[in-house]
Formats: sequence, structure tokens, C-alpha cells
Amino acid sequence: MIYVGKRKNEIQEKHIVEGILRQIWVMEEDDDNVSKETLYKKFSTEHVDHALDEMTAGKLIHVDGPIFELTKIGRDRARLILRRHRIAERLLHDVLGVSDEVFELGACQFEHFVNEEIVSSICTLLGHPITCPHGKKIPPGSCCLHAKRKLQPVLGPLTKLRSGVQADVAYIAARSEESIERLSAIGVVPGLRFTVHHREPTFVIQFGERQLALDKEIAEEIFVRVITG
Ligand SMILES: [Zn+2]
Ligand SMILES: [Zn+2]
Repeated sequence: MIYVGKRKNEIQEKHIVEGILRQIWVMEEDDDNVSKETLYKKFSTEHVDHALDEMTAGKLIHVDGPIFELTKIGRDRARLILRRHRIAERLLHDVLGVSDEVFELGACQFEHFVNEEIVSSICTLLGHPITCPHGKKIPPGSCCLHAKRKLQPVLGPLTKLRSGVQADVAYIAARSEESIERLSAIGVVPGLRFTVHHREPTFVIQFGERQLALDKEIAEEIFVRVITG
């Protein structure tokens, strides 16, 4: 019982420290003064005081009177947290179509749990995005530096494909159950391989002997992985 309680506290403390590191980074980015008062507004006073002591002891921040700044160690750690947070925002916002109120909270939870390898895979999947949905810079990871010219997302909406391109349906990001059911009834399901027959005036895809016209709105909800073209 005691162990469980202690562990829970440790996890909570780690999350507060990470939350504060992110907050300091964001304030520095916006040229805001990094003060305890701003942190008190975001987190509870008691938590902030405790976390700042821990962070000073752990050499994550350097405190000089009312002013404090990230040390090299703190900056490196904050950078990873920001990267996880903003990559998560992109994933939840662009790919999963999670609503604005929810994706922010989701990204806050995500930033504490996901390891670098998973972040790299998501980053690659999204084409190594350089900004989050709010337009803030995403600190690049080693995957981005190695990617060089390959900046096309691995997955993208059907509407981005040119005529003649062959692709597989990866998933349907439809906002309603109805569209998913309608698409699956006509055979548009993950794994379907098709060719873009033409794009104008409507999108027509071909699979087997079959040609299928899709409204632009629907085509935007179909995410595909390019095979050739
Ligand atoms: Zn953002
Ligand atoms: Zn990357």
C-alpha cells in the first residue's frame, strides 16, 4: 500500500517537473519573463515550490533571486518534452481529427509517457513536421536530420495524390460513423489497393474492374500510403 502511494507521488512529481520545464521553455520562446508567479498561475503554489527545489538540486534550473533559467541539462530535457508534446499535437489534430479542446489535453498526457523511438516513428509517419498546429516550432529529432529530402509524409489524404498514382488505404479518418459505414459498404477499407483514375471534376479511383467517384470531402478523410507514382 505504502509503495503504491509513494510511486504515485513520484509519477505526479515527475509530471509537474516536466510541465514546469515545458512552461519555462514556452515562456522563453515568447520572450516572457520566467517568474514564479507565472508558474503559480499554472500549477499550485505548493507544487511549484517543491518542484523548483527538486529542479535546482537536479541541476535542471539555475535560480538567481526571482529569476531562473534552464541549465544545459534542463534545456536538453525540456527540448525532448516539447518535441513529444508538439508531435502529439500534430498526430491528434491532423491524423486523428481530435477536437481542439481535447487534443491539447491529450498532448499534455502523451508527453509524459512516450519514448523517443515512438516519437521518431510518429514524426516519420507525419513527414517530419516543423511546426505544431499552433504554429510553434517542433524541435527536430535525429529522424528529421537524417530525413534530408524525404519530407513527404508516409501517409496523407487521398486528395494529395496525382492521377495514375497507386496507393493503399491506410485508414479512414471520418468524422462520422456514417461515412465509415458508407465507405466500407462500397469496399473502401484499410488495405484496399487502388489507382487514382482522375482528379477532376471529382476524384475517381479504380480498383479491380471497379471505378468509384468520391466527393472531395470524403476523399480528404481517406488516408493512404503511396505505393508507386
Ligand atoms: Zn502547439
Ligand atoms: Zn523526424
